[in-house]
Amino acid sequence: MTTSDTTAERLPIALRTEALEAILVERGLIDPSVMDRFIKMYEQDVGPLNGAKVVAKAWVDPEYKARLLADGTGAIAELGFKGPQGEHIVVLENSPEVHHVVVCTLCSCYPWPILGLPPGWYKDPAYRSRIVREPRTLLAEFGLSLDESVDVQVWDSSSEVRYMVLPERPAGTEAMSEEELAAMVTRDAMVGVAKVAVPA
Ligand code: FE
Repeated sequence: MTTSDTTAERLPIALRTEALEAILVERGLIDPSVMDRFIKMYEQDVGPLNGAKVVAKAWVDPEYKARLLADGTGAIAELGFKGPQGEHIVVLENSPEVHHVVVCTLCSCYPWPILGLPPGWYKDPAYRSRIVREPRTLLAEFGLSLDESVDVQVWDSSSEVRYMVLPERPAGTEAMSEEELAAMVTRDAMVGVAKVAVPA
């Protein structure tokens, strides 16, 4: 083990990130104001709202849904959503028989253009290992208890592919407009740790 390994293990990751950022700024490789604008944009302007619009459109438009499942990236770009971390998006359709859930076991790969930045729990090593080892137990801790008959499929993001779950459209929403449907779709449902619930 080298000295730098020991140091790296001692320092919390936030501190290491700050140190790295400071070096990059100092050498003129990044502009902190650009970085801040970039982070704000993904936190405030993108968010999971884009993904919710994609889901609602797929629920009301069967032809769009077919395109979305065949070519996620292309169908999502039809709505104007594209950019970094969205170059290759695969959409997985949940049904009463199959439940898909997404993870990045290596780090925190996530489809930014449709879901914004990943939540803390998605980056947590506990989520990343347990969702693979014991998906039903972990999903139950998220409040999602799945019947034993449901086939649970865990999708591990790679350096190339990002996944989005197309949740099931809840019963009793037949009369709702696309906008009303989009308002019900949550980030967690598009990662696969929740279902979409009709607001009481
Ligand atoms: Fe990753």
